[in-house]
Amino acid sequence: MTTLQPTKPLHAHADSALDPIRAKVLAGERLSLDDGAVLYATNDIWSVIELADLVRRRMHGDKAYYNINRHLNYSNVCALSCKFCEFYRKRGEPGEYTRSIDYIKDEARKGIESGATEMHIVGGLHPYLPFDYYTDMLSALRETAPDIHLKAFTAVELVHLARIAKVYKRDDIKSGVRWVLEKLIAAGLGSLPGGGAEVFDDRVHKEAFKNKIGAHEWLDVHLVAHELGLNTNCTMLYGHVDKRDERLRHMEILRRSQDQALARIGYEGDPSAYIAEGIPEAQQITAPVVTLNRDDAQLPTPAMSERGGYYQTITPLPFFPDGSDLESLPGPSGLENLRTIAITRLMLDNFPHVKAFWIMQTLPMAQLMLEAGADDIDGTVVWYDITKAVGEHTHQETTVLDLQKAITEAGFVPVERDTLYREVVRNGNEWHI
Ligand code: SF4
Repeated sequence: MTTLQPTKPLHAHADSALDPIRAKVLAGERLSLDDGAVLYATNDIWSVIELADLVRRRMHGDKAYYNINRHLNYSNVCALSCKFCEFYRKRGEPGEYTRSIDYIKDEARKGIESGATEMHIVGGLHPYLPFDYYTDMLSALRETAPDIHLKAFTAVELVHLARIAKVYKRDDIKSGVRWVLEKLIAAGLGSLPGGGAEVFDDRVHKEAFKNKIGAHEWLDVHLVAHELGLNTNCTMLYGHVDKRDERLRHMEILRRSQDQALARIGYEGDPSAYIAEGIPEAQQITAPVVTLNRDDAQLPTPAMSERGGYYQTITPLPFFPDGSDLESLPGPSGLENLRTIAITRLMLDNFPHVKAFWIMQTLPMAQLMLEAGADDIDGTVVWYDITKAVGEHTHQETTVLDLQKAITEAGFVPVERDTLYREVVRNGNEWHI
């Protein structure tokens, strides 16, 4: 009996330029930025997907994760005006809102009723809310729903909180952010989402979000969070003014930052493995390269967070032009989204999870992405104000059955996870880890 050889592409029209990359992926080696450029340039997208699927199955077999969560956008008032953003409003503008603590408590109660294990909390950079609002919000949620994990505040919001708490120092961002995070952890913060990274590149930063924090500050916030034992996540908002090579450099910076986090919690790494040159943000990191894309690699677990946190998930987010200042741009195509998720899986070899966030990718595309390197499609969400991929309404709830059906139809086994990727045992709205 003959068996299929994974060392050869499984379809016609294969691109031989991918052969050296295939060899590296099979050996569990880190891909270079040049490899990434080949993966973006090839017409043989099916081989790219096949390689990403190979890595994804090494890490997770046929499991695909979802969670039962609730998103809470506490305010859309923002001091900044990033060009790609359709969410923010200025104070007094129609549609502006800021949620009261009573409203937030009510959301927590609805979370309990729906069996949610997570509240995902982000908002604009409100110029007038005092720092106490944020600790009061977390305390109220913790008091109302003690079992629900609070994943809250992007790096951008945390730097803003350091400013309003008057502990921000331009030449020492870490100390102010540490102060803020310690207060928020005491009030109930459990982990950080990954927003605000966009694409780490000075040109893109200047063109699309110049008043927002840059790569150095974003990385410093996550570094401090990891030092304090918080797990964090990260994103890449692409398909606006960014170019593909800038996305690849963004990926290099993130995987070097993860090398650093994994070294802190005890991974040994390979000091002679590939490190891209000429990227200042990544160059400052001295940790050896740690890859998790081999058959025998052990993925980090929440128990390791006692020694320090790490990045759990990378979520590539396609840009939606409608309603933003970059409305004239087309936004990325479905095929570009599929390719980008596959390349993300291949390049970010030390990230345990790649998320196809169904809200922004749509559920049918998220299904396809499970075949292209993603292992997670996020959760039930309920309300989401940041972008509206389908329709105009912010009520974007999907049911657990829809999520499970989407995963099963794609040929994977649905696994409910909590925020820290522990498997959830559930009986109706009752659950435990
Ligand atoms: S992306 Fe964030 S910081 Fe920028 S305008 Fe929108 S809410 Fe404000």
